[in-house]
Amino acid sequence: MARYDFDMITIGAGSGGVASSRRAGSYGARVAIVEESRIGGTCVLRGCVPKKLLVYGAQFADAFADAAGFGWTVAPPRFDWPTLIAAKDKELDRLEQIYVNMLKNSGVEIIEGRGVLVDPHTVEIAGRRYTAENILVATGGHPTVPNIPGIEHVISSNEALDLPELPRRIVIVGGGYIAVEFAGIFRGLGSEVVEIIRREELLYGFDDDIRVALAQEMRGRGVEIHTRTQVTRIEKDAREGYTVFTGTGQEISADLVMYATGRGPNTKGLGLDAVGVKTDDKGAVLVDEWSRSSVPSIYAVGDVTDRLNLTPVAITEGRALAETLYNNNPMRMDRNDVPTAVFSQPPIGTVGLTEEQALRVCGDGVDVYCARFKPMKNTLSGRDERTFVKLVVDGKSDRVLGCHMLGADAPEIVQGLAIAIKSGATKRMFDQTIGIHPSAAEEFVTMREKFVRPQKLAAE
Ligand code: NDP
Repeated sequence: MARYDFDMITIGAGSGGVASSRRAGSYGARVAIVEESRIGGTCVLRGCVPKKLLVYGAQFADAFADAAGFGWTVAPPRFDWPTLIAAKDKELDRLEQIYVNMLKNSGVEIIEGRGVLVDPHTVEIAGRRYTAENILVATGGHPTVPNIPGIEHVISSNEALDLPELPRRIVIVGGGYIAVEFAGIFRGLGSEVVEIIRREELLYGFDDDIRVALAQEMRGRGVEIHTRTQVTRIEKDAREGYTVFTGTGQEISADLVMYATGRGPNTKGLGLDAVGVKTDDKGAVLVDEWSRSSVPSIYAVGDVTDRLNLTPVAITEGRALAETLYNNNPMRMDRNDVPTAVFSQPPIGTVGLTEEQALRVCGDGVDVYCARFKPMKNTLSGRDERTFVKLVVDGKSDRVLGCHMLGADAPEIVQGLAIAIKSGATKRMFDQTIGIHPSAAEEFVTMREKFVRPQKLAAE
């Protein structure tokens, strides 16, 4: 008789947990996955997928506006928010069912309920105890908000995806991925959008030129961005709206206030402390490069570890774990050159080092190539929006260290370039590559002049 009920119990059926469980199941491991909500997790149900569907919805505003320059007469378009939300929900139901089927086809048993650790090999679910040789914690994260007066009035991205109606005017607090993506969605669909950030620029950690260019284009689209501004309190007002008070003395009214000020790991009440699993001060599970926690039979992948909080990373971490444990194929996630995109409007694609990071790694020997241009479509459409592309190159080795783009299709373009960066491509190889004409992407292989910053010129 088997010593344990299962080889692995996974707590949390999101991207990381499902990927790991399916891969383990495919190698013959006896796996159960525990989920207290729906199957699919943040990405499928409350994040990447519904967000991108709404981004697609919002982008039609551009198509209608641009069409006239190409000879079309478009009757004033009307948008119906409940129709989009219903269509999005139908698609999520379909995807959830696919996830359920995929788990079943891999032989993974789905157990509904909340899993709590009892000891290093036991999980309690709805009053029943199950044992496993290994336990994988893949419980993801949740939106976090600061503790200021009136914070109970705000919504997070979770609620923003299911609003009964489109707000006429919305205040969005935060300057990260989620804030800029939702600013683009609501603005595209016709809301007035005010974004409040506490820094000078959006998207801390991204390349500075991209950050500046994004703010410029968002403002061009009518998003009002208040920089270096802190919200001090929020009050509900008499006409079913809210007033946002800032440290700079402003009072901004809106129908809705959304906070996108970061996410925290879902570890509360999981029983981690009791079984000796160490967590950091935010509650994230501390793991080694093999995703193993301080308790040898307990592992964790994805946002609950607060490493690189991206779906494809959670999936890779989860699959690597299954390879290591059940296929005699020790695998670790390679964290270098992970590409990422922000589905802002216009969107961003980025891979590798920012100019600032490269300067820290290479000292002064960093070459920068960049171009800012009006994409061809905007000549006839009359849209006053520019695309920005940038390469960061190690001047000594000629290796391209980073690649950044703001403009239409940037995520699609940078995904391909990420292979070149991952393969160690040099600037010379980029130069030897023939461009596809006419495209925006060809700029990446036609930039010849090094960019010299004005202040650097002055110093020379
Ligand atoms: P981020 O960590 O990206 O950004 C949080 C933002 O909120 C920052 O601008 C931050 O400012 C600001 N902030 C934090 N605390 C406060 C505060 N107390 N008052 C005011 N502003 C504050 O978090 P998100 O919520 O946008 O996204 C969470 C994660 O989800 C991301 O890190 C990303 O990994 C993932 N994600 C990925 C997407 C993608 O791949 N396209 C899309 C959406 C999410 P400051 O910079 O000053 O700290």
